[in-house]
This record gives sequence, structure tokens and C-alpha cells, in this order.
Amino acid sequence: MDHPSQHSSSFYPLSPIPYPLSPIPYPPSTIHLFPMRYIEPHGHMVSRTTDDYEKLALSGCEAICEPAFWAGFDRSSAAGFYDYFRQLTEYEPKRAAKYGIKHYSWLCINPKEADDPGFAREVMSIIPQFLDCPTVLGIGEIGLNKNTRNELAIFEEHVQLALDRDLPILIHTPHLEDKLKGTRLILDSLASFSKLDRSKIIIDHVEEHTISHVLDAGYWAGMTLYPESKCSPHRAIDMLEIYGSERLWMNSACDWGHSDPLAVPRCALEMKKRQHSAESIEQIIYQNPRKFLSQSPRFI
Ligand SMILES: [Zn+2]
Repeated sequence: MDHPSQHSSSFYPLSPIPYPLSPIPYPPSTIHLFPMRYIEPHGHMVSRTTDDYEKLALSGCEAICEPAFWAGFDRSSAAGFYDYFRQLTEYEPKRAAKYGIKHYSWLCINPKEADDPGFAREVMSIIPQFLDCPTVLGIGEIGLNKNTRNELAIFEEHVQLALDRDLPILIHTPHLEDKLKGTRLILDSLASFSKLDRSKIIIDHVEEHTISHVLDAGYWAGMTLYPESKCSPHRAIDMLEIYGSERLWMNSACDWGHSDPLAVPRCALEMKKRQHSAESIEQIIYQNPRKFLSQSPRFI
């Protein structure tokens, strides 16, 4: 209610209040960061609880993308993958929808189990029947685990499958001491595909010693925020400040191990503390993943 009688000079000072009284702690912005919206471009939700879906929704997550991965154990038959692909394409989108989150997936046989090429090809023969599912974005996460010849051969067969179907590709790079060598092997292999559109490929889990190799070659790069390995928020933000945000995204890669499904919004908060504007934060946690993922017409 408006009370005209209170609009007298006795209630309001005649001169403007010298506001702000202290320096603005964060850069001025045309958008508000909190509550924010973001996309989790790499999360293994089959191994997370419904409580995690609720936390993601409360944190502003609008969409989750789930690449096919190693389940923590080797499957005993290709039929195990058939069920897994059904879980990714039928069950998980429904579970996410209960919390207002869109769920998308990427399909492949993961690099670890790809070291058995006979088994890997049997699994790959199942994949095409799922590629027309309305929430499947592309092929991933393919890549290397121990940098073996078998892994590389199956990696290249997946790349060819993506090329034949004009699908984007999500690539996993090996952990720790194998990472630089594996990243180089992957880049060399990709370079042998002359028809590849590099803007449709993201190479994930980059670190300080691999990020420039990926970006300089024209690919997108993913930074994974993991509590014990991969990147801390501070290291990811350092890389962002050095390399810019043009072809970068951040993800939690949350799975069955020690990982944090809220790693992306936590990193956004850390960016805010380090004086990044709301616009630049939204760029990395929402606009960039949307730009890359929208290369699949299924991502909406
Ligand atoms: Zn993953």
C-alpha cells in the first residue's frame, strides 16, 4: 500500500544517500548470478541418487548430459550394455524429469572395456539401434584408458561411426601420468580423419599440460572438477583466466566414486569470489555447453 503521508521530507533525506558506502565487492552486472541456471554437461547419474537430482535442481541445473562409461566393473556380456543403453535412454530421462531437469546421453563402449576388441565390436553392433532415440546426442565418452593399440583401434571405429552419422563426439582422456601421452595419441588419430568437423568434438578432462594442445588444434575442451584428481575449482579458473572461455566448459563428471554433483555451481561461486562477472560465469556454465550441445538438433 502507498501511504502519501509518509512521503514527506521528514522521512527521506533531501540529498541522495552516498551509496554504496564501501567499494562494490563484485563487478556490476546486468544479470543476477544467484539463483542461476547452468548445464551439467558430463554426469553419470545412473550411479547417483534421487537426492542428487533434487540438489542439482535446487542449484539451477536445467539439463544433464550423461556419457556412457565404465560402471566400476567389467560387464560379463554385451547384453549388459543393451540394458545399460536402455537405462540411459529410457529410465534416466524420466528420473530427471521428475525434478524438472532434461536428461541427454552419449553412447559408446568405454575405453577400459574397449581393450577387448572382439567384445567391443559386439557392443558396438548394438549401438545403432539406440542412436535414433530422441535424447541421444552423439558418441561418447570414447577415448583411451591405458593407451593400448586395442583401445586406439576401437576409438577410431567409434569416430568413423560418428562421422557416418554426422554426430558430435565426446572424448575421455586418460588419468594422471597417461594423460599427456593419451591426449597426443588421440589428437594424432583424429588428425587422420580428413572430414572431421573439429568444432563438433569435445576433449574432456583437460589439465594444465594438455589444454593448449586441444584448443590449439581447434577442438572444444572440458575441465572436470573432481575432489581428488583432475581439476580443483581454483585450477580450472586459473586455466579459464589464461586461455579464455571461447571453447571451454566445466563439468563434475560425478559418478560412483568420490565426486561432487554440485562441483559446477561451487566453481561458479568461486569465480564470483575471484571477481568474475555474472555474464562471464553464465558464459562458462550455461552458454558454452548450450552452444556445443546444440550442434545436436536433439538438444533443446
Ligand atoms: Zn565420465
